[in-house]
Amino acid sequence: MKKRILSGMRPTGRLHLGHLVGALNNWVKLQDDYQCFYMIADWHALMSEYESPKELERYSYEIAKDFIASGLDPNRCTIFIQSQVPQHLELAMIFSDITPLAWVERCPTYKEQLREIKERELTTYGFLGYPVLQAADIALYKANAVPVGIDQLPHLELTREIVRRFNTLYKKNVFPEPEPILTKASKLLGLDNRKMSKSYGNFIALSDTPEVIEKKVSQMVTDTKRIHLEDKGHPDICTVFNYFTNFGEDLICKEIKLMCLEAKMGCIACKKRLAKILIEYLAPIRQKREELTDPKIKEILKEGAKEAGDFASQTMDEVKSLLSLAR
Ligand code: SF4
Repeated sequence: MKKRILSGMRPTGRLHLGHLVGALNNWVKLQDDYQCFYMIADWHALMSEYESPKELERYSYEIAKDFIASGLDPNRCTIFIQSQVPQHLELAMIFSDITPLAWVERCPTYKEQLREIKERELTTYGFLGYPVLQAADIALYKANAVPVGIDQLPHLELTREIVRRFNTLYKKNVFPEPEPILTKASKLLGLDNRKMSKSYGNFIALSDTPEVIEKKVSQMVTDTKRIHLEDKGHPDICTVFNYFTNFGEDLICKEIKLMCLEAKMGCIACKKRLAKILIEYLAPIRQKREELTDPKIKEILKEGAKEAGDFASQTMDEVKSLLSLAR
């Protein structure tokens, strides 16, 4: 029997090239080796977007389109919206009861987000419990592994501690302790040479049209020391070249590097070549996206929620019987 994994993304905006390189391409590969549950984590999104949640539903459908257009196949994996499987909250409630407060308070990403996200009020009961809901998400499907970046390892460690505590308290190994499948961090920079982020708006979305891609690429930050055409460039510090290394063939990268170092090509021409590569790279994704109408995507998500719900209710039956909760 295949091992199971669970992963998800929060529907707080459109998915971009960073998501593709940093997670989605890897998820696509995992489909054949694992039984995969891919979740649109709208409960998690609500924790930070509760003051203005009106886009959550729209973004949930758009993200589902991005998932499938990028290569996730609903016949080989389960794609669903978290809030459509209410058992996530049931298990989160039970996990909240057994998780010592100190475990969530010490979580480094919690402290970091409180420090970094100043524009939202995040000192809420729900946000503190973010990793507990995350543990429930994973445990509900008895996931054996979770694809994570190195920065998410403390969250996964907390999940492992919570399920270990559950198994010990109730003297039954209900939940496996999930192992990390470490995903290499994406080296893709934002268009302005800062970290790529939804809040900076410095990204190329998977759904951007060729015209928008051309415009965004034309505005990308380059080597700021290269002012005149005859100035020799430094491709290794140039954002445009960073994109070539992620999306261009090796031969093209070598050629661009050489021409930049020897000032044989201007930045405008260089950006035009990059725009062409990105437009071609995203063309099949955009085409697939266009075929995915709203009714079609809702049907796929309904089916996904049913599959996920069937698995989740079996887990909850086992949990409730162990805890003497009426079923
Ligand atoms: S030629 Fe290309 S790689 Fe070199 S600085 Fe200009 S945009 Fe960057």
